Amino acid sequence: MCNACLIESVKDRMLSRRGLFLGAAATAAAGVASGAFNARPALAASTGRVIDLTHAYDSDFPTFDGKPGILYDVDKKFDADGYHLFKLTIFEHTGTHIDAPLHFSEGATSVDALPVENLIAPLCVVDISAKAAEDPNSMVEASDIEAWISANGAIPAGACVAMNSGWTARIGDPSWRNLPDGTMAFPGFSKTATDLLVEAGAASIGVDTMSLDPGNSADFAVHYSWLPSGRFGIEGLANLDQLPASGGTIFIGAPKHRGGTGGPARIIAMV
Ligand SMILES: [Zn+2]
Repeated sequence: MCNACLIESVKDRMLSRRGLFLGAAATAAAGVASGAFNARPALAASTGRVIDLTHAYDSDFPTFDGKPGILYDVDKKFDADGYHLFKLTIFEHTGTHIDAPLHFSEGATSVDALPVENLIAPLCVVDISAKAAEDPNSMVEASDIEAWISANGAIPAGACVAMNSGWTARIGDPSWRNLPDGTMAFPGFSKTATDLLVEAGAASIGVDTMSLDPGNSADFAVHYSWLPSGRFGIEGLANLDQLPASGGTIFIGAPKHRGGTGGPARIIAMV
């Protein structure tokens, strides 16, 4: 190989290495929200225990605006038609459900476009049930996330971080949604906590109550910051009290209606 050829060949190799490096950096910058980080190395080595994190729902299940979340019409009857079929009218944010980024931002990711890599994720459970028993509008604070990290290690990239406020025990009781005077009251995340979770590389958050923000929120600070960041939420989770703080894996059966802002989902954990 001549000197000129050698120089050209080294230059080519350096350029292609630089291209590789830039490619990796660009992938990292695209971040967790796009599903670019593969969370699989942090997934649970399962004991085989499977826990349903989903409430069954019907037209009596509490909703944020108080309207029935689902209505059933009989479309076919077994005795007349030979098979059963219902026609359903469903508000998207009903029962155990997804909040997609599009729910609280213009032109953002819709529920059908959530990166599938973020729908199977390491599950971190933050227990605030002691303070929630004292104050129904209590919040997961940044200090609760820091305490979780001290006890369990770093939040895995792409994780789902879920609030256990003990609210599953109240399902079917008016206190799941309201104070005795009818005012909404339930725990949620604080924005300082979810800002920290953006930095930590979590892809989703979940709550065992009706909203990512607490019931007395006037500004929906978490909805208006977490969702526009391209991350999603899960509301109305069940049975988080049956899970360890770390080591579980969550399976998020998000619906896939095109352009949707969210919707009822089947959520399952494996530990
Ligand atoms: Zn919501």
